[in-house]
Amino acid sequence: MEDNEEVGEEYLFKIVLIGDSAVGKSNLLSRFARNEFDTNSKATIGVEFQTQVVEIEGKEVKAQIWDTAGQERFRAVTSAYYRGAVGALVVYDISRRTTFDSIKRWLEELTIHCDTTVARMLVGNKCDLENIREVSIEEGKSLAEEEGLFFMETSALDSTNVQTAFEIVIREIYNNISRKVL
Ligand code: GDP
Ligand code: MG
Repeated sequence: MEDNEEVGEEYLFKIVLIGDSAVGKSNLLSRFARNEFDTNSKATIGVEFQTQVVEIEGKEVKAQIWDTAGQERFRAVTSAYYRGAVGALVVYDISRRTTFDSIKRWLEELTIHCDTTVARMLVGNKCDLENIREVSIEEGKSLAEEEGLFFMETSALDSTNVQTAFEIVIREIYNNISRKVL
């Protein structure tokens, strides 16, 4: 199926989750799509996606959100994973600086594989781990400003901002398309 295509009265947007292993990508998706959190989530190999329906301006928007499901451990996220994506959540773990240091590399990969108009959100996950924080909110904000990204700190564990982060990206994609149509 073509991404970013109008299906009857509906819209279908492909959104990818990227970022280092164990930053919480799978849990962000399960929290958003099923309101579930899995403390023992093992990285399974192979690409998976989930479709979530969101209503914007009375229109049904389907967000097809792709999860790397472990590919990133081998630095082997394929171009098929990125193909047709119109949105991306680029995730790090606020309690592990190395995952923040990797963000530039993930952004480069996104640039190689996706259109420049892809809606991008920088996500600092695990904000519930304040006591072992290694990356400040200010650092996250300033990187986002520098790179022209939306920014949000989230917690898949306690649900903080998870819904909002996905919805901002979905809304931005919708707005991009509406602008094109006009
Ligand atoms: P992925 O490899 O990026 O898909 O990361 P996972 O979703 O598998 O999560 C990796 C580990 O971090 C798991 O043990 C999760 O339980 C934990 N985790 C994920 N999100 C959060 C969060 O928001 N807060 C905390 N404290 N732990 C989290
Ligand atoms: Mg995963």
